[in-house]
Order: sequence, then structure tokens, then C-alpha cells
Amino acid sequence: MAKVHEVIAKVKERYSNEPEFVQAVEEVLSSLEPTEKHKEFLDYNVYERLVEPDRVIIFKVVWEDDSHNIKVTQGYRVQFNNAIGPYKGGLRFREGVYLGEIKFLAFEQIFKNSLTGLPMGGGKGGANFSTRGKSDREIMRFCYSFMSELFRHIGPYTDVPAGDIGVGAKEIGYLYAAYKKIRNEHTGVLTGKSFEYGGSLIRPEATGYGLLYFTAEMLSHKGMDLNGKIVAVSGSGNVALYAIKKATEMGARVVFASDTKGTIYDEEGISGEKWEFLRDLKENRRGSIKDYAEKYNVPFFENKSVWDVIKEQGIKVDIALPCATQNEINGEHAEALIKAGVIAVSEGANMPSTPEAIKIYKDNGILFGPAKAANAGGVAVSGLEMSQNSMFIQWDAEEVDRKLMSIMKNIYKKSYEASEAYGKPGDLEFGANIAGFLRVAKAMVYYGLY
Ligand code: NDP
Repeated sequence: MAKVHEVIAKVKERYSNEPEFVQAVEEVLSSLEPTEKHKEFLDYNVYERLVEPDRVIIFKVVWEDDSHNIKVTQGYRVQFNNAIGPYKGGLRFREGVYLGEIKFLAFEQIFKNSLTGLPMGGGKGGANFSTRGKSDREIMRFCYSFMSELFRHIGPYTDVPAGDIGVGAKEIGYLYAAYKKIRNEHTGVLTGKSFEYGGSLIRPEATGYGLLYFTAEMLSHKGMDLNGKIVAVSGSGNVALYAIKKATEMGARVVFASDTKGTIYDEEGISGEKWEFLRDLKENRRGSIKDYAEKYNVPFFENKSVWDVIKEQGIKVDIALPCATQNEINGEHAEALIKAGVIAVSEGANMPSTPEAIKIYKDNGILFGPAKAANAGGVAVSGLEMSQNSMFIQWDAEEVDRKLMSIMKNIYKKSYEASEAYGKPGDLEFGANIAGFLRVAKAMVYYGLY
């Protein structure tokens, strides 16, 4: 039966046209060699079975723009693994989305969802469609069309999609409306819904808040906290905004934020009225972060990432929270972070650090919170939304927040304990991969060959 290194080699050969997927498989599987001591995982060929999705659905999405042009694009849903619960993972609407990107995200989601301790399998979906510059009516027509095919593949006990880049509360509303109409069912088939029709309180805040709960736990284990720390956040979307808010509440000063146009540096910290301005700018007006720089008269670095600016300007930072996109921190950026005095990197985005960057963090003893553990708060509260929907109740914000904090602390504990038990104490990337894997692998063994 195929051992871990053989599976990595096969995936590299077979899916060389899907580099993000290959990167994700290599990242996870290279941690799993010590689990080969569980003989049953090899007997049941778990490693090789794990890297093949249960199902890949690719479908046509036809929609009409405001000028009555008929457009066509591809929609995707990858149902990767449902060993421990219904497939669960977001939908990404962004230009350039292709199967390899969705597969990488769905694969990562298996382990992240497992770490939450909730009954959720791994899936992800999306479309090569950018909501940017589209009118509400165009987005609505697109979402209706997308769901007119997706509805037959999902359900509250089958597959429960949510938002991701380009899919926020508005898009979820349109997608849910289409599902409800076609199926004539009001069920928990999507998460990230607005509160009025079944959403969970704290879901919008959950990934950013959870990131900070995880980071605080990681620091506290080393006798440190966030109070007085200088923090660099990248992005200014959903994850970044609520990471900035919670970091500030915990006593840190967040001096960087960014978007696809560039980076701002606000030495005083993005807090209070300034944070509100940024939230309104990005959530309601979909504007550029440059407006923040103009309003508050702070430096704006056009077309530069936060990590480029730290590298070029040598600005001191204690904690880095990448919350924008994949592979945003490369090896050179990581070297610059070491020089800038960073003590911890905790990932809000999915796979924001390249393998070279991660190696540099580890070689330099930086505390590293890997995405699948550190950003699991969003999907954790999505899991809580599913529970509330199935019980036909809605918890108050304090209750959801308390549960979120407890889940994040538990993820840290499980990851740390697995890192110790399997021989690399304190390596949370290694520990999170192992802890996430074990639950899924054991379930697969219980099922036999099915
Ligand atoms: P949003 O679309 O709300 O925000 C993304 C932010 O990052 C925006 O400010 C965007 O700029 C910026 N950005 C995107 N791509 C680039 C790029 N190539 N260079 C510079 N800036 C960029 O997404 P989310 O905040 O929801 O997601 C961010 C990351 O977190 C993704 O990796 C996502 O998969 C991950 N994640 C999200 C979760 C969630 O609950 N939302 C849960 C777990 C992970 P602009 O404003 O100009 O578009």
C-alpha cells in the first residue's frame, strides 16, 4: 500500500497542472510520515485514498449582464471527503478560479474542519467570475444561475457551502433564495446567512476573532500576550477587518492593512473611528484603501504588499497576520520579517506563506500558527450555524463567541499535543496536520473500503 512519500510523488506527477493542489498535498502529507506507525492506515491505503476527491462537479453557468450580453463561465464544487460529516467549505467567486485552486482549498478544508471537533467533511467550490465592478442585478442573476445547477448536489446532510473571497452576505442571500425556491425547503443548506433568515451571530467576525484567540493562546503558552504588540495585518476584507478589531481590543496596535491596490501604514493604529471608516469603506462602499490614506493622511504604498513595505522600509513589527490571499509571503518577505523583529506569524488567509517562508519561520524559532488551525474560527461558527439551524434556534452573540473561543483554544491544544506525541514539540503546522488527519483517517478505517 502506498506510503506517504509515494503518494506525494504520484500527486506531483499526475497533477502537475494544478500547482496549488500539489503544494497543499505536499505540505500536509510531508507531516504525516510518523503516522505510518498506525499499521491500519497503510493496510487501508488511507494516504492514497485521501488525496483523491470523492467527487468533482464542473458545470456551466450562463448569465446575462446589464447590457443583455449572454455570458458563460464554469462553476465548480469539489466534494473531497465526508468521512466525519457533510462536505463543508466556501464558494469563491474570483477571476481566474480554476479546478486546481478549488481542489487545494477543499483538501485543506478536510483537516481544518476536522480540527474544529465538529462533524464537517471537506469541500469547496466557486466560479471563474469576479463580483468586482458588477451591478447588484448582475450578481443576483449570476447567483441564481449558479444555484440552478448546484442545488442538485448539496443539502443540509450532504454538502453545506458558505462564502469565501467574492461571496459575502449579499451573494449568500441570492444563492439561498434560489435554493429555497427550487427545493421549496428552508433548511441549513448554506452558512454565512444573515441573522434574519437563519444566520449565526458572530459568523462575520468569526475568522478574524478566532485568529486572535488562537494567536493569544500561542503567545500565552510562551508567557506572552498581545498587549502593546505592534501588528501587521494584510488585506482589509472580512478576515482582516475583524482581526484588526480583536487585536486592538486585546491591547495591540495594528499599523498595516492593504488591498489589491496597495498598503497603508498608520503608526497610531487602525482603531476606533478609523477602523469604522475602513469597515464601511470595504464592506459597504467597496472602495480602495487609498481613501483611508487620504482621509487620515498616512503613507500609502501603491501596488505594494504589506510584506514588500516591511522589506523595503525596515519597519519594526512584533506579530504578522497575513489575511489577504495565498502565497503572499515569500522567502524574502519572511527574511524581512525576522529582521523586523517578528515573534509570531499567524495565518488568517489560506496558505498565505510559501513553503520557503515557513521554513524560515521555523529555522528562526518564530511562533507559527498555520492557516488550517489559526483561521478555523470561520468554519467553526459555520458548524455552529448548522447546529442552530437543525435545532431551529439562534444563540445570542455571547454564547457563540464563548463557544468560538473554546474551540480555538482546543484547536491549539490538540495541535500542540500532537506535535509532542509525534516527535516535533511546538511545531504547530506539523501538529495541526497530524491532529486533523487522525480523526479523518480513523473514520475511514472504521468504514472499511467504502
Ligand atoms: P475578502 O474578499 O473579504 O478580502 C480579501 C482581502 O484581501 C481584500 O482586502 C482584497 O483586496 C485583498 N486581496 C485579495 N487578493 C489580493 C492580492 N492578490 N494582493 C493583495 N491583496 C489582496 O476575503 P476574506 O477576508 O473572506 O478572505 C481572505 C483570505 O482568508 C482568503 O485566503 C480566504 O480563503 C481566507 N479565509 C476566509 C474565511 C472567511 O470566513 N471569510 C475563513 C477562512 C479562511 P480588495 O479589497 O482590493 O479586493
